[in-house]
This record gives sequence, structure tokens and C-alpha cells, in this order.
Amino acid sequence: MKIGVLALQGGVAEHIHHLKALHCETVEVKRPEELDDLQGIILPGGESTTIGKLLRKTGIFYKLKEKITNGLPVWGTCAGMILLAKNIENDEKAHMQVMDITVKRNAYGSQINSFLTYKKIDGICSKKIPLVFIRAPYITEIGSDVDVLCRVDDNIVAVRQKNMLATSFHPELTDNLQFHKYFIGICEK
Ligand code: GLN
Repeated sequence: MKIGVLALQGGVAEHIHHLKALHCETVEVKRPEELDDLQGIILPGGESTTIGKLLRKTGIFYKLKEKITNGLPVWGTCAGMILLAKNIENDEKAHMQVMDITVKRNAYGSQINSFLTYKKIDGICSKKIPLVFIRAPYITEIGSDVDVLCRVDDNIVAVRQKNMLATSFHPELTDNLQFHKYFIGICEK
């Protein structure tokens, strides 16, 4: 199983660590050629405006968008989720627009409003796992074929649409591997 992590900016090393712990071969994707032969790709957290600019500058943008549209499994965490969204409620510029969701950036406020909570998520974990939110977005609208996996205080924070998974929070910043296992399961199909 070879899984890429988009490595232009943001929390790359932590995702690589979790994937390796689950015996995946990993690729840090910095150039379009590195998208070839992947069974899945993770778009990490960071700053979506910066990653969006670098996606275009490196020429990864359209190749990645096409691969996702053709079924490549993708998981966006936080800024990664913003890159996948069709609409951004509080920003003029959307990015890849492959996932039928509307997101609100920095929906919980600034860095000091970052928080940790615990949730049990059906289909992913049978016990409560830690969810870390850092200047996180949440989802304000979803299309009819988007499944909600998790809500926190009524706000949607994890969704799946076919080959695409998106979370407002950062499982890579905890010791828990359940979300990475779940994504690897999507990549195996
Ligand atoms: N606030 C960031 C953005 O809007 C996302 C934060 C994160 O990825 N932890 O891009």
C-alpha cells in the first residue's frame, strides 16, 4: 500500500509517522510525477491559502484534481478539507472544488480557541477517541451523497463522499490510529 502525503506546507511528518506505523509505504508529494502509482493521498493541515497557491505553482493542482475526480482516495485534514471543498463560506476563492461541501474557515475563532474533545465515531472506532481542533473549519452545507461521520455541538466535522474523506480535526496529532486505519481501508478497495 503506497500512500502519498501532500508535502508543500503544514503537518506532513505526523501523517507519515501514522501511515508508517500501519506499515504503508509513504511518499512526500512535492511534484506532479509523485502522484503516479499512489493508492491514496492525504492533504494535511496547515494554511489552505498557502497550500492552494503552492498546488498551482508546482503544477500539482490539475493533475491531483483529475485523479481525485477519477476515484483516487483522498483524505483532507483541516486545511486539506478546505482545499477539497466546493465552496468556502467566508472566502472568495475555493480550491479544487471536488467535494460537495461548503466549509467555514476558522469557524471556532483564532488559535487560542483551539480545543480537544473526545468522540466515538460509528464505523471508525468503538471507543471515544481524541479530536484535536486547531483554527479549524466546520462544514455548513453538504450535498445529497455526502455522509456525515461526526458532529461536535451540532456542527459537522467529518464527512465522506465516495472516495473522499474530510475531517476538521487532526487525528495525526494524537496517538490514535483509527482514522488512518479507516482511510487505508478506503484505499484498499
Ligand atoms: N485555519 C487554517 C486555514 O484556514 C486551517 C488550520 C489547520 O489546518 N489546522 O487554512
